Amino acid sequence: MYISQRAKNTLPSPTLAITALAKSMKEQGIDVISFGAGEPDFNTPDVINKAAIEAIESGFTRYTPTAGIEPLRQAIADKLLRDNGLSYKATEVMVTCGAKHALFGIFQAICDPGDEVIIPAPYWVSYPEQVKLAGGVPVYVTADSAANFIPDPAQIAAAVTPKTRAIVINSPNNPSGAVFPEAVIRAIAEIALKHGIYLISDEIYEKMVYGTEHFSVASISDEVKKLTIVVNGMSKAHAMTGWRIGYAAAELELIKAMVRMQDQSTSNTTSIAQKAAVAALKAPEGLVTEMVAAFNERRAVIVQLLNDIPGFNCPNPGGAFYAFPDVSGVYGKSFNGKQINSSDDFAAYLLNEARVAVVPGRGFGLDSNIRLSYACSMDSIRQGIARIAEAVSKLS
Ligand code: PMP
Ligand code: GLU
Repeated sequence: MYISQRAKNTLPSPTLAITALAKSMKEQGIDVISFGAGEPDFNTPDVINKAAIEAIESGFTRYTPTAGIEPLRQAIADKLLRDNGLSYKATEVMVTCGAKHALFGIFQAICDPGDEVIIPAPYWVSYPEQVKLAGGVPVYVTADSAANFIPDPAQIAAAVTPKTRAIVINSPNNPSGAVFPEAVIRAIAEIALKHGIYLISDEIYEKMVYGTEHFSVASISDEVKKLTIVVNGMSKAHAMTGWRIGYAAAELELIKAMVRMQDQSTSNTTSIAQKAAVAALKAPEGLVTEMVAAFNERRAVIVQLLNDIPGFNCPNPGGAFYAFPDVSGVYGKSFNGKQINSSDDFAAYLLNEARVAVVPGRGFGLDSNIRLSYACSMDSIRQGIARIAEAVSKLS
């Protein structure tokens, strides 16, 4: 069977793969504790569900405009002004099938073959694959774990070439949880201004910050905002991962280009989910406050327990719901004659031996680390990390 080079060159998503594997093991009755899924373990609030039910019952089940219904685009524009101090018209906002598809559309809209996109590492697994699918070339600039994974603007500046088209900013960060300081974000914006390149600001974890403030790069100035494409969505802050509602906000010409391509690919995202998203954006922020308080407690516990394991070193994440410990201290050790030499080896060992699912760091650009989502119960955290500690103690 003929498969295109493009399809052959695309890696599967390791985050989705681990999540699916842990789920299927559980369904087979295997007692797996999963730190895989990057999704809140809270249910979508009732007011949001009710809006969707009402949409179905009132027959709101047909195509909508590709870029989304006007009340949703306006509710998103209102949100961007309210929360981020960003003034966009509804026409400068488009609704997509999750933030993931907003990002996909952005790379398609801005990359010509050979164009480079600077991606600070560690990075979310989908950026490089999406850049490559657009014919672009990912260029990595790796942040130091000793610097708590805050990227170094000087290194980013040094990576700029005449082919650089964009720099990705993802703060709070998946997988490191790092919240980039305002000064670092400003310094990255200066680089973009100097060279006239885009800033892609993935702000999906903006609400998940612990004792710090989220800062949107687009809020620096009108000039910076013109170069910025803000990406966000309903998945994390409103516990709506399955509804598939994300969005992008940018200059009208770019949004129009993305909408043209969405016209020819997915069309609009689900009509019912759009109604639910309007309700979510208009509701008071009760759930997110509750979730953030719970994540904050779990964060303290998981980071402490991970750091207690010999060979682990886990920086304290300022945001998102991921711990990203360096586990290279256990590399070179063996179990039953099999040596662990990489994050893939170690994740496989933990799954087989400890029945704990974690995501190997390799897919995030850092093979010395593993990612654990703490969007799971405190009980799972305590039991799961105890299992990891025991499995590590069996290595020699
Ligand atoms: N960006 C980052 C950094 C993510 O971790 C995710 C995963 N949820 C997304 C974008 C995409 O989220 P969604 O497509 O569910 O909106
Ligand atoms: N973004 C989440 C994660 O990193 C969900 C899975 C995905 O889409 O990659 O786990």
